[in-house]
Amino acid sequence: MSFLTEETVYCPYCGEPIEVLLDPQEAGQHYTEDCQVCCKPIVFSVTEDAMGSLSVTVRDENETY
Ligand SMILES: [Zn+2]
Repeated sequence: MSFLTEETVYCPYCGEPIEVLLDPQEAGQHYTEDCQVCCKPIVFSVTEDAMGSLSVTVRDENETY
């Protein structure tokens, strides 16, 4: 049984919509993936709310943590 959630985010550089699959095991983690359109590194942050549902936010790599 899978709890993968699909969500659409937008590239912080070029605005291209990107579909991501969220894995509950990734909650609280960050990972970087290159945009398939503009090839710039996008930082994905996966968060879990109190209800246990996952959401993802993106930012460009140059933003400070
Ligand atoms: Zn892009």
